[in-house]
Amino acid sequence: MSEVTEELRAAGLRRVAEAEPMSRHTSWRIGGPADYFAVAETEQELLAAARIAREHRLPWLVLGGGNNVLVADAGIEGLVILNRLRHISVEPDVPQLVCGAGVFFARAAQFSARAGYTGMEWGIAIPGTVGGGVVNNAGAHWSDVGRSLLSADIVDADGKLGRVAPEDLAYRYRQSTLKTPHTAQTHLMVTSARFRIEPDEAAAALARVEDLRRHRLATQPVKEASAGSTFKNPPGDHAGALIDRVGLKGTRLGGACISPLHANFILNEGTATAADVYALIKLARERVAAVTGVTLEPEVQFVGRWTREDLAAVEAA
Ligand SMILES: Cc1cc2nc3c(=O)[nH]c(=O)nc-3n(C[C@H](O)[C@H](O)[C@H](O)COP(=O)(O)OP(=O)(O)OC[C@H]3O[C@@H](n4cnc5c(N)ncnc54)[C@H](O)[C@@H]3O)c2cc1C
Repeated sequence: MSEVTEELRAAGLRRVAEAEPMSRHTSWRIGGPADYFAVAETEQELLAAARIAREHRLPWLVLGGGNNVLVADAGIEGLVILNRLRHISVEPDVPQLVCGAGVFFARAAQFSARAGYTGMEWGIAIPGTVGGGVVNNAGAHWSDVGRSLLSADIVDADGKLGRVAPEDLAYRYRQSTLKTPHTAQTHLMVTSARFRIEPDEAAAALARVEDLRRHRLATQPVKEASAGSTFKNPPGDHAGALIDRVGLKGTRLGGACISPLHANFILNEGTATAADVYALIKLARERVAAVTGVTLEPEVQFVGRWTREDLAAVEAA
């Protein structure tokens, strides 16, 4: 057992492992091994893991649900910390919903509706965690984190920083100051967030959550392995419509496929590698640019051992 693993275990981290396949922790079910892996359930564990990585001069990365990342087949250098800070409560005086960064949005939507509040119903559509959503400005059904967030708690490996307001994160469509290009990690960790909610009838709020859930099931291939929308929608258009227009809907490459239901979803049909998905992303990007003049920008983040050339071919200019 390595020193890093021993120290992570001694600090209370859970499921500590070496060479952990990331395909177990991503919604695409794709990704090679992380050199080191651990699950943090408390802020103390999160901070301890980051400190241990820093002391050993290892790169480190926090993941939530792994729903917005394409992890390279060659894996991830250093330590991956899976955030599972799962406390959730309503503070009625404000009123606000307080969530640990490892709470999944679907739980946040159901919890606040059941408690008799409206405002978080849209969260039922987001498969990821609050932490990932604060980074990505996740959103659906005419709402997003930028519009719902009251404040987020953010720390670095020393536990410094503190509470930030949405204005501090410069939210734009699926973008924030916390969402960095693959190579430049901020090393900032979201530990919790507070969302705006208003009192309502629990039954009415729960019915809206259920309507949105059914709508999702009917319009998107949510049961297959994917990362949701692969590309951001360009201004005034839809990435899926553009990919469909250039004839790529249903295209297969290796074990990956551009969804016949929603062309902005790339599906892992069971045996896809990151290289297969990457090749489809590149193909869609090149074909759409050649035919329509629109350059699609990936919404998903490329994580792990990608080469500079790989990234230059698909990431935003
Ligand atoms: C079927 C499907 C449908 C989807 N539909 C939507 C949709 O409608 N709208 C939408 O916005 N998204 C959608 N997504 C994408 C995804 O759910 C969101 O991007 C979500 O915000 C990702 O959260 P996550 O916890 O999985 O993040 P991860 O993929 O784990 O991480 C994403 C990024 O956030 C960082 N990160 C995660 N947690 C933390 C933390 N605690 N502190 C610091 N950094 C952190 C990671 O390092 C990484 O850079 C969909 C995905 C799927 C699979």
